[in-house]
Amino acid sequence: SDEVVLVGRSNVGKSTLMREITGHSVPTGQKPGVTRKPNHFDWASDDFVVTDLPGFGFMSGVEDEVREAIKTDVVRYLEANADDILVGVLVLDGKAAVDIIDRHSGDDEIPHVVELFYLLEDLGITPVVAVNKMDKVDDRDERLDDIADRLGLLPPWKQWQDTIAPIAAKHGRIDPFEAAVRTHLEDAKRHDLK
Ligand code: GDP
Repeated sequence: SDEVVLVGRSNVGKSTLMREITGHSVPTGQKPGVTRKPNHFDWASDDFVVTDLPGFGFMSGVEDEVREAIKTDVVRYLEANADDILVGVLVLDGKAAVDIIDRHSGDDEIPHVVELFYLLEDLGITPVVAVNKMDKVDDRDERLDDIADRLGLLPPWKQWQDTIAPIAAKHGRIDPFEAAVRTHLEDAKRHDLK
């Protein structure tokens, strides 16, 4: 059946978001690097599957090779399943994302999350960026404009509400995310009927 995937660094709140959208109890704060396999869940009441892919990036106590293997696994999964995946959700920590992206930007370095965003587009998977932990962000519009800019989306971010969804998963505030995903799923359905 149709699939929505969640990708993101570890600790951005992927499990928390997953629990909100599926109503299933997904363990949070799991030992990083332990969940190496995709987890599939049914989206409450809808006819598609949500897949949580392993989180990547810095995790204390996890060796470099394991971290690289996780990144490779995520990319391979997306490539292998691109035909079935309607929406790829890139989950970011709204408080930390810009700093992390800028720290990893250089003449010949593209931050992994930015690379993933472009990979989704290249594979024909509609990207949705769930900017989580917005409850911790004061300068909301400025922050979201910066995130849009780093992903190559011309600010203001409000032009991109089908793509950029500010949320606070821990507090159950995920409406913009659900609206964005639903828009794309309905577009896809309409496209299929043609
Ligand atoms: P994962 O590693 O991406 O699956 O992240 P988790 O879902 O385990 O969450 C990591 C940490 O971020 C936990 O302490 C969560 O309680 C916290 N967290 C998740 N969502 C939010 C949010 O919307 N706001 C805040 N402030 N913290 C959050």
